[in-house]
Amino acid sequence: MDYFLTEEQKKLKETIRKFAEDKIKPVRKELDEKSLFPREILTEMAKLDLFRLFVPEEYGGIGLSILNMCLAVEEVARVDAGVAVSYAVVGLGAIPIILRGNEEQKKKYLPGMAEGKLYGAFALTEPEAGSDAGNVKTTARLEGDYYVINGSKKFITNGGEADVYIVIASTNPTKGVRGLSAFIVEKGTPGFIFGKAEDKMGIRASVQRELYFDDMKVPKENLLGREGEGFRIAMMTLDRSRPIIGAQAVGIAQGAMEEAVKYAKTRVQFGEPIISFQGIQFMLADMAIQIEAARSLVYSVARFADSGVKSFSKEAAMAKAFASDVAMKVTTDAVQVFGGYGYMKDYPVEKYMRDAKITQIYEGTNQIQRLVIARALMREY
Ligand SMILES: Cc1cc2nc3c(=O)[nH]c(=O)nc-3n(C[C@H](O)[C@H](O)[C@H](O)COP(=O)(O)OP(=O)(O)OC[C@H]3O[C@@H](n4cnc5c(N)ncnc54)[C@H](O)[C@@H]3O)c2cc1C
Repeated sequence: MDYFLTEEQKKLKETIRKFAEDKIKPVRKELDEKSLFPREILTEMAKLDLFRLFVPEEYGGIGLSILNMCLAVEEVARVDAGVAVSYAVVGLGAIPIILRGNEEQKKKYLPGMAEGKLYGAFALTEPEAGSDAGNVKTTARLEGDYYVINGSKKFITNGGEADVYIVIASTNPTKGVRGLSAFIVEKGTPGFIFGKAEDKMGIRASVQRELYFDDMKVPKENLLGREGEGFRIAMMTLDRSRPIIGAQAVGIAQGAMEEAVKYAKTRVQFGEPIISFQGIQFMLADMAIQIEAARSLVYSVARFADSGVKSFSKEAAMAKAFASDVAMKVTTDAVQVFGGYGYMKDYPVEKYMRDAKITQIYEGTNQIQRLVIARALMREY
């Protein structure tokens, strides 16, 4: 199916597929084993102008398009989901600036992000604020020309590697969620400290760190939007990034299915390739059905988001939850098709299964996506 993609979008997909096959596939095992941040690969991706995909033209990009981001992330994730998320999170750092940044902030940060010279990160989660994202304890106190920020953030993707961090902190703890504000924080700001890189199950070619803020002074010009707008900015950002995580999940599932079909054609048992057994054929067919359904949903939600519609939280949550559940099911079945060999690190399917799991957890767990969807239903009917 061509999903009504334009010729340009098809070409974009093809270019990235070839890049991922040529440049990422040969090193993905090493990146996974050693848990390496893929800086060299990201630099190559910048040369292909892939960081321009999420920046408006006036700041050196080719226009923020959630669909184009989905196409890029899907193709990278088909080969390595860790590289895909490292790339996607640069966009996650740019989106709040695009949405609520003033002209000076946009001019200062977006051109560097479009060129792939400035990496972004998005810091909302804290030890006590995971699913309960509004329970942020980090505080920002205005003192003269600076906000003094104290607190910490947990599991921040690109932490330590990124140059620009969107940090959600409370400027008015008595107001709860309405007291949260968003700040642009640069790496190297005195009092900004990074924890050790987390040792993870999957997406090991990406890095997550704790961030600590110890009387960190941030110029007051770095406030994004207005005081009290932080939670809204965070939710608007997540609405845009959830379809992209859905696309990451589609890419993971696609990669795993392709491996399963190829293996099933060559593995012989009972004197026949296992693909001749209906039990295996039905598993493969179910994988294909689920992947097509997930991809169709992700692309149509991405188009809906790009159409300029005001609210698409429900649809974004659906795309993320459905595609990530598909990725988990498909990758688990791909391991099953490989039998005992699938459980071994010599074959790529166990990695796809490890990588798939995170897509059900981050950017809001799938329980939280279902809460978002159910709340929308309660309002609608
Ligand atoms: C690899 C990785 C990368 C990440 N990157 C980032 C990042 O870049 N920036 C960032 O800000 N955060 C990031 N996160 C954080 C991530 O978004 C949170 O881990 C996630 O939202 C869940 O929060 P938690 O881990 O505190 O789980 P908890 O909130 O403690 O949830 C535990 C369990 O309880 C369930 N649960 C909680 N509340 C409810 C409820 N009301 N109803 C039903 N079930 C519920 C959850 O679904 C889950 O199953 C990352 C996390 C990981 C693991």
